[in-house]
Amino acid sequence: MCPHCHSTDHLIKRGTYRRPSDRKKIQRFHCKKCNKGHSSQTHSYDYRQRKRHINQMVFRLYSKGNSERAIAQIIGVNKKTIARRVTPFANCARKHLEKMRAETADITEIVFDEMESFEHTKLKPLTIPLAVEKHTRKILAYDVGEIAAKGPLARLSIKKYGKIKCQRRKVLDSLFRQLHHVAHPRCNFSSDESPHYPGTLRRYFKDAQHQQFKGRSASIVGQGEMKKGGFDPLFSLNQTAAMIRDNIKRLTRRTWCTTKRIDRLSDYLAIYAFYHNQII
Ligand SMILES: [Zn+2]
Repeated sequence: MCPHCHSTDHLIKRGTYRRPSDRKKIQRFHCKKCNKGHSSQTHSYDYRQRKRHINQMVFRLYSKGNSERAIAQIIGVNKKTIARRVTPFANCARKHLEKMRAETADITEIVFDEMESFEHTKLKPLTIPLAVEKHTRKILAYDVGEIAAKGPLARLSIKKYGKIKCQRRKVLDSLFRQLHHVAHPRCNFSSDESPHYPGTLRRYFKDAQHQQFKGRSASIVGQGEMKKGGFDPLFSLNQTAAMIRDNIKRLTRRTWCTTKRIDRLSDYLAIYAFYHNQII
């Protein structure tokens, strides 16, 4: 597709060039409609990058709970070189997840729940709704949204940052919209007893089964995801949430290296979801 006029049927090949960074031959194209040129690199995720050879390594280090600064130190490049790769990687990972969802259909058992984190301070909490396939533990859908602070922090949060518009409903809607073509219309959903779920679920899956389980107390070694002994009906989800928390650096600790920007957190979730679905 021509990046200038978006035409798809006026393109002809017009020569090649060797890109300086790795001497690879790149095909150029000419658009007969707008008379402008582009190349096979124009739409690539590594467009205008120079150190392409580090990409594989950076991707794996991102997915294994390393901070951008740590990756820069391990590989021996500037931390901006690493930071700049987050968004292109994430866009690539999102496309893969969408492709996987397009090719998947009729999943019969799904577990979903929300993880909680915060943006910069505990006064600005975030919700991360997550849906996984029960048996394979593949991440099928996720989203991130702002919610209002609870309990004693609520008053302080409003005083300092004003009233935060709760996006819980919006992100839950988005979660079920993502699952729409993936899940069987009579799919069996499991979740905890949150009152927000049944109504939203009904709107997207009116024939689906929905089992809600009583929330169990967290084990002290996990940050809420690992449940105390015995059989856990939401194990697939809790296990995946614990893996996400372990493997995305900005979710591992409560103080150091926390999320500063919600869009970046979403990028990291995309990268991790892609990696998770590959290795699981
Ligand atoms: Zn054109």
